Amino acid sequence: MTYTSTGSARVTKDTITRIKAGTDMLALCDRLGIELKRQGNASTGSASRYMARCPFHEDKTPSLSVNAGKGLFHCFGCGEKGDVFALVEKVKGIGFQEAVRYLADLSGVTAVPETGIPRTLSAAALEAPQREPEARPVEATFTDKERQEALSRVVAVYETNLAASPEAEEYLRKTRGITDNQVIRYFRTGYANGNLEKRVAADSRQYHLLQELGILNGQGREVFTGCLV
Ligand SMILES: [Zn+2]
Repeated sequence: MTYTSTGSARVTKDTITRIKAGTDMLALCDRLGIELKRQGNASTGSASRYMARCPFHEDKTPSLSVNAGKGLFHCFGCGEKGDVFALVEKVKGIGFQEAVRYLADLSGVTAVPETGIPRTLSAAALEAPQREPEARPVEATFTDKERQEALSRVVAVYETNLAASPEAEEYLRKTRGITDNQVIRYFRTGYANGNLEKRVAADSRQYHLLQELGILNGQGREVFTGCLV
């Protein structure tokens, strides 16, 4: 090994190994702006060797040797050398941990912290501060169960209203041609006569829940007043 990391390891050795194996040296050099020129060919057994102008010193003739197969670099001019992590650190001027994140991102490897909890180290996710969800007033926070129960109660109220409203039932029978009580009940057809708001007015939590569900509007009026729902 020609390069030893100096930063404190926050990810497992296995992660480092996998990132190294998963990093495409050619793609990495391309991303870092290092222009590679292939040296030799497959028949001479040096297919993965490249030369490039060294980014670490004034380099007129390519003197940076890159071994894409092993993921190593070595400059014959200034002596800089190392692996993919060292290359990223030196070119970008960042620390080892940042280089690990950079390459984890590039290679698509999920970095596993030493705590053993898998975590995808995408640079964007790490840089973005964790946002606390905004605190909502207690009265405006309801569970799905509460919402469902409230809707069921509203439907029940509307059904009762319809049964107690001859004009609404008359409308159904004549205009819609629905005459079967069972059919009416099957479709849970109800009549919003505006009395729902009175029923829940005493319970502010229910009141807010119905507003959130869109049954009551911002002024606390029934949205469907006078409607068959
Ligand atoms: Zn150099």
